[in-house]
Amino acid sequence: MILEIHNLSKTYPNGVQALKDVTLTIPKGMFGLLGPNGAGKSTLMRILATLQEPDQGSIQLGDIDVIRQKEEVRQTLGYLPQEFGVYPKVSAESLLDYFAILKGITERRARKEVVEALLRQTNLWEVRRQKLGGYSGGMRQRFGVAVALLGNPKLLIVDEPTAGLDPAERVRFLNLLSELGENSVVILSTHIVEDVSELCTNMAIINKGEILLEAQPLQAVAELEGRIWRKLIEKHTLPYLEQEHQVISTKLLSGRTMVHIYSHEAPGHGFELVVPDLEDVYFSTMAGYYSASHHKVVAP
Ligand code: ADP
Repeated sequence: MILEIHNLSKTYPNGVQALKDVTLTIPKGMFGLLGPNGAGKSTLMRILATLQEPDQGSIQLGDIDVIRQKEEVRQTLGYLPQEFGVYPKVSAESLLDYFAILKGITERRARKEVVEALLRQTNLWEVRRQKLGGYSGGMRQRFGVAVALLGNPKLLIVDEPTAGLDPAERVRFLNLLSELGENSVVILSTHIVEDVSELCTNMAIINKGEILLEAQPLQAVAELEGRIWRKLIEKHTLPYLEQEHQVISTKLLSGRTMVHIYSHEAPGHGFELVVPDLEDVYFSTMAGYYSASHHKVVAP
């Protein structure tokens, strides 16, 4: 199953063009959609989840025309939105059981099995009788995954899932997602570079509604080898440096500023070569210095 998005555009009534001619091929496995706030990620996720109409373009999920065959999509879709409400006074087990009925799993025994399997898979079995109001952010997100997984979706959409999670919860949540990627298309929308570098086999970077890069993370990082240089500077010298070099990022480091620049040749002036990581790919792309239009996503 492959998800193919062609020339998708969306402008809101207030004139904001949230998506501009987006074309993407998303194979089975974990796909990271990376971009800053306001880039258009949620708009794209909502359109894929059939909750919103694009102005233009087409989306094909296997044999299904996503824009025209909404019912068919919904039968095979799991969607975990950025924010979702839970009923605080109900236990995870009861609410999941209720959602399972809504999904059409009406036979009692079968439903009991599905609910138990999902609660175990999301590591909530021990706390299944607790009220959802008492759950931590991470537990709630995992409960959201359990709900999204009802009915074995072929397409799972997860929008900004790690935002409010502490580091341990984040790791647990990402591990859970990576296990799912083996059988379905899983799209993880995020503004956190590490979410993508740790998990995703394919990725795209989106900014201001446009896809700037479509690549495999490891390959994109390897491409940058020999092109990223760093230097520790005093902050007030940054404007001068920016005139001379292609600065991609700055970071405070014990009172001083660590600068990363993009350059095919050795820049001299005390710069040293860096082993690049996905953050360098992200910032080089966002700054417009790096684009890999020749990178095509390849199914694993
Ligand atoms: P992201 O998920 O990457 O933060 P969004 O898709 O939420 O991006 O937003 C993309 C752009 O569209 C932003 O400029 C945002 O303000 C605008 N936008 C999002 N939803 C609406 C809406 N319902 N009406 C008008 N503008 C919107």
